[in-house]
Amino acid sequence: MSSIKIEEVRPHAERFAAHSHIRGLGIRNGKVEFSADGFVGQTEAREAAYIVVKMIKEGKFAGKGVLIVGPPGTGKTALALGIARELGPETPFVALSGGEIYSLEVKKSEFLMRALRRAIGIKIREWRRVYEGEVRSVEFRYGRHPYNPYLQRVLGATIKLRTKDDEKTLRVPAEIAQQLIELGVEEGDVIMIDEETGTVSVAGRGEGGEQYDVPARRRVEIPKGPVYKEKEVVRFFTLHEVDMSLARQRGLISAMIFGFAEETKEIPDEVRRQADEIVKKTVEEGKAELVPGVLFIDDAHLLDIETFAFLTRAMETEFAPIIIMATNRGFAKVRGTDIEAPHGIPQDVLDRLVIIKTRPYTAEEIREIVSIKAREQNIALGEDALKLLTSIGVEHSLRYALQLLVPAYIIAKERGRSSVAAEDVEYVRGHFISTKESVEYVKSLEGKFLR
Ligand code: ADP
Ligand code: ADP
Repeated sequence: MSSIKIEEVRPHAERFAAHSHIRGLGIRNGKVEFSADGFVGQTEAREAAYIVVKMIKEGKFAGKGVLIVGPPGTGKTALALGIARELGPETPFVALSGGEIYSLEVKKSEFLMRALRRAIGIKIREWRRVYEGEVRSVEFRYGRHPYNPYLQRVLGATIKLRTKDDEKTLRVPAEIAQQLIELGVEEGDVIMIDEETGTVSVAGRGEGGEQYDVPARRRVEIPKGPVYKEKEVVRFFTLHEVDMSLARQRGLISAMIFGFAEETKEIPDEVRRQADEIVKKTVEEGKAELVPGVLFIDDAHLLDIETFAFLTRAMETEFAPIIIMATNRGFAKVRGTDIEAPHGIPQDVLDRLVIIKTRPYTAEEIREIVSIKAREQNIALGEDALKLLTSIGVEHSLRYALQLLVPAYIIAKERGRSSVAAEDVEYVRGHFISTKESVEYVKSLEGKFLR
């Protein structure tokens, strides 16, 4: 990509923290395991998703999409993310809710176009100046956020890297320290920092590092040679980033304070066409590779007829991501029409979708998911606490049970314990109610407050 200068690449803020434990569909030797890659149960849906992955990989899914139907909290989002992860570790995953397209700031078509282009990745091989090595130690410097006193902010870090032949101590600024935190970098990880962009990437765990279950890292060799060197590396962009970069270079978009201006300005078609041309040329020259990702649209029944038409057209273009929709509605009016249709989705769109269903969880599945989420957040759970959370999950919802984890942990700590007990869960469950309870509560009051 020599004719275009891309200013900076920051890893996207983790919007999917709730799904950070999902690392794939949990396939081992071609079979779905009950619990693997952070995924538990929901076996038939995962098997179906795996068939979709195979169709995509064989190039037999062009012009098609996926619809996932099932009650809230049954892993529809997790399933879509699992498909993306299964397609490759770098496969972009963009999630939005049907309701989001009715933003007051941006035209629907612009919002959708951005989402579609965020879901297309471009991998470029380039020679870069980098620091690379195994982490010997890492220390963070913290301070208060300049405006928001409730936010702690990392100010920087000091990190010691070694190779088989060299060792260097680096003082890195906040942008890099923030990435180290988000990536969970610790002693024993082999990492690389791009000198110019400051992008951090983790190769895996060096031979010396201990291996924990979560997050799982690949074993890698400790690099040889100097820590600071020139190396051929793979850089990653999205098509949207290329659009923005071009628009900025032409002065069509200025980086205003907080970047709000960038989010509201429309990118002209002509800029997008030019971006497409550049990308195509770079791919043809063998310098780049296209990585189509997944665009996940939850609450698809909220989309309107215009949007469906737009998406259908998008599915047929050469830069199309895999479109996965989800809904928990049965029959509904297609928005913008008087037509009733299954899931509020027009028939011509439904014709292109393979439908996967998710079912409510069993107690065994809920128990396993709760313990995985607890382990991932370093929360020790007593047996009685896990039992109680499981039964809360069965009676109310998996989401509610998962939401109680951190509050229960905070209460346990306050009470001087390092492990969450049933009484901590009991306490917080009395203070935070489930959706089922909140609806019943409001209903019970309606009679009293009738005007
Ligand atoms: P939905 O999209 O159907 O409303 P989510 O995918 O958001 O449901 O699931 C709710 C939470 O439970 C998320 O944190 C999700 O990652 C987790 N989760 C759901 N199903 C599973 C599963 N089968 N295995 C592991 N975690 C799951
Ligand atoms: P309709 O217009 O009645 O809804 P379509 O013509 O779209 O049905 O048919 C649905 C699918 O089945 C299409 O892929 C079509 O090519 C295929 N199909 C329908 N009838 C036949 C047939 N008699 N022989 C072969 N393929 C058929």
